[in-house]
Amino acid sequence: MTERRLRGIGVSPGTALAPAIVVRFEFPEVTDRSIGPDEVEAEIARLRQAIAEVSAELEDLRGKVLERAGPEESGIFDAQILMVQDPDFLAGVEFLIRKNLLSAETAFEFKALEARELWAGTGSSILRERLTDLTATHRRVLHRLTGRQDPEWWAGDLGGEVIIVARELSPGLTVQLDREHVVGLVSEEGTRTSHAAILAHSLGIPAVMGVTGALDRIRSGATVLLDGLSGRLILDPTPDEIYQAQALSSRRHRLDLELETAASGPTVTPDGHPLAVLANVDLPEELDAALRHGAEGVGLLRTEFLVTGRTEVPTEDEQAEYFARVAEAFRPGPVVIRTFDLGGDKFPSAFRTSPEPNPFLGWRSIRVCLDEPEIFRPQLRAILRAARGRNVRLMLPLVTTVEEVRAVRALLVEERAELARRGQPAVDELPVGVMIETPAAVILADRLAAECDFFSVGTNDLTQYTLAVDRGNARLAARFQPHHPAVLAQLRHVLDVGHARGLEVSLCGEMASEPLWAILLAGLGFRTLSVAPPSLPLIKWVLRTVPLAAAREGAARALALDTAAEVEATLLEVTRAHIDLRLLGLRDALPGERGGASLRERSAPDS
Ligand code: PEP
Ligand code: MG
Repeated sequence: MTERRLRGIGVSPGTALAPAIVVRFEFPEVTDRSIGPDEVEAEIARLRQAIAEVSAELEDLRGKVLERAGPEESGIFDAQILMVQDPDFLAGVEFLIRKNLLSAETAFEFKALEARELWAGTGSSILRERLTDLTATHRRVLHRLTGRQDPEWWAGDLGGEVIIVARELSPGLTVQLDREHVVGLVSEEGTRTSHAAILAHSLGIPAVMGVTGALDRIRSGATVLLDGLSGRLILDPTPDEIYQAQALSSRRHRLDLELETAASGPTVTPDGHPLAVLANVDLPEELDAALRHGAEGVGLLRTEFLVTGRTEVPTEDEQAEYFARVAEAFRPGPVVIRTFDLGGDKFPSAFRTSPEPNPFLGWRSIRVCLDEPEIFRPQLRAILRAARGRNVRLMLPLVTTVEEVRAVRALLVEERAELARRGQPAVDELPVGVMIETPAAVILADRLAAECDFFSVGTNDLTQYTLAVDRGNARLAARFQPHHPAVLAQLRHVLDVGHARGLEVSLCGEMASEPLWAILLAGLGFRTLSVAPPSLPLIKWVLRTVPLAAAREGAARALALDTAAEVEATLLEVTRAHIDLRLLGLRDALPGERGGASLRERSAPDS
């Protein structure tokens, strides 16, 4: 591997070629400077002037983004404006200027670093998400005070197309990206199931995460050639490398188009078994792609991204309108609305929460909703309203107890009564489903089945909580194995319990977007899979190509195996009998040859 080549985890397929913008979230260099007592007032005036200018700049950006992208995206600037005008923080800076006789920039940098250390030191991903905003606003002020140019890398005028390179991409940051100009993403942290990766994938922005040393090795302005399928990067590519990549990209594109045409219409296996392939939809802008790629419904409508990156939770009316719009678009197909799954790595600035040492084991998801009825109740009302006359279902994330389901059912009764009091039409019977994404839910499956109408397995979290592997930790990416025997045994159990109780059991984790695992899941008995919109054509095509009998045989063999590597080798073998593995971006390796990491190291189809 030469110095120009880097490798990470391909989390969102596609090829991108553009100059890099390295986002360090670092402050400009400030030369420490003391002042005389007679300069104090002038320094304070300079500080206030800088704050006023930055506030105006942020207001301006908010206006531009509102025009270009809409109120959801522009809401992020409300938080930044509040941060830059934070009276306590500014009082602290002024105190340092007066008492310690420091220049405005020296005092400001001191307080900013203090705040940053405080937030970063908690190790909380919630605060880290906000830290990005805080640092961005502080950077702006310091650039004003030091008279240096701030590299306006996002939302402003990027000039042309760019590839963003950062240490870590939060979902909040990803949701705000200027999608016209940001054609690719590279980060040192993150994996395929981190929420920023899921978003990039859903939005169709090619992305490579887990690139060790990216910040040291990529300089701003360097041309980067990025392959989001194989996870490969080439810096300052030669004309020949560019030509090769473009040729490969257009071949893939042609294949995608062929798949798209071939995959529209129902998914029936070659031996005549119908399967349903639905879409996971995170943001309104993905609806078109989901429809175009023939989704038969929405198996997971993530609602928290309506909040992430905003300062306000959307109103009941806004949500009801959105849910109704989605349900109309997919009519007669189902739309499964998942209630806010906030927390973990998704905490928007709308929430003022204290930092937690283990956010994924903390105040997350259904727990937040049940504790914050003023946020949850309007969402339930919005769903009840949108479901009337439409094929809408409600789904609860991160359930670990039977009481949680009962509590939601009780709230639904109350909110239906509230709507009746207001004279607003609502649905009478709303199917309520439980996401199976914790070992507790698997073990309690029979009891949960008695409380709900359907199950949907979230393998991203189920894998994380079963294997004790942080889904966003790049260092553990190879250990994050949804095909691990411990996970497969749980899938078997949930299917058995669900089917015995007459419940539909579907699956909406990223696992279903991987061709090999989609075959495995169909073989295990899942009849409904929900995948990221860009994966729809490929997954539908794969399921239409491999006979269910072969998938069943593969799944039966897989269940008896001891290791994830053996499961993978078996599925490669089953798949190879029906599909040229290179078409799937999988090297045609002999079973077991490449161990458990081969899916994470997908190579180009023709390599
Ligand atoms: C999951 O955990 O598998 C899932 C679909 O939910 P999310 O990725 O939004 O946590
Ligand atoms: Mg989940």
